[in-house]
Amino acid sequence: MSLTTEGRAPGPVRFRLACDRGDCAEHTTFDLVIAEPPPDRETDFLGHLLHEAHQAMPYIDGLGWVCAGGAGYRCPTCAAASRRRPADTA
Ligand SMILES: [Zn+2]
Repeated sequence: MSLTTEGRAPGPVRFRLACDRGDCAEHTTFDLVIAEPPPDRETDFLGHLLHEAHQAMPYIDGLGWVCAGGAGYRCPTCAAASRRRPADTA
């Protein structure tokens, strides 16, 4: 998963997003101010870890990037290419 964060909520967090498709070198960096603090580490460890990434999801969607599950992230160009079907190109 090529989404890395620098900083922790609540407060400004810098996100670095890189495309994971083949040798595509597309990447982007953006900053979000996340007001909501993460859940407690003891009671929700995964939620604690992924808090910033979850908060950024709508913004990532808005940029046109797509989360490809375990395969990481696709930049808008690669996401469009993988959606294209042979019938659409005729
Ligand atoms: Zn790409």
